[in-house]
Amino acid sequence: MSESRALYEQVILDHNRNPRNFKKLPEADKSVEGFNPLCGDHFTVHLKMDGDVISDITFEGSGCAISKSSASVMTTVLKGKTRAEAEELFHRFHTMITSRPDAPLDPDALGKLQVFAGVREFPVRIKCATLAWHAVHSAIEGDAAPVTTEET
Ligand code: ZN
Repeated sequence: MSESRALYEQVILDHNRNPRNFKKLPEADKSVEGFNPLCGDHFTVHLKMDGDVISDITFEGSGCAISKSSASVMTTVLKGKTRAEAEELFHRFHTMITSRPDAPLDPDALGKLQVFAGVREFPVRIKCATLAWHAVHSAIEGDAAPVTTEET
């Protein structure tokens, strides 16, 4: 097993067992539900905005280890980011995860999101990994309608 593969599994196990920011957020400005019918992943992401900055972000719900750990890592990455920074990270994450398994990675641009590169080897899991990101994208765009991965 390669080092990156081992790290991938370790991060997913850790965040699945002990998800960060996994709670309600009563003072949230926006809450968007995300549902991945292929796998049964179902999460709600809550955002508290301070002007243009995501001052707090939490999630709740249930799903597979990949969807849950991806949502958990996402909340740790997006807290304190501006809308534009969050959208840029979503774009980078989405581009990486939908690239070919042997495509080169840019560690500087991806930071800790890079561990999810392992998902590229399992295309059916891409929707699990991007679900919470789609919910945030929808919240930032101002659309509070539930998102489903079926259209992506
Ligand atoms: Zn899933």
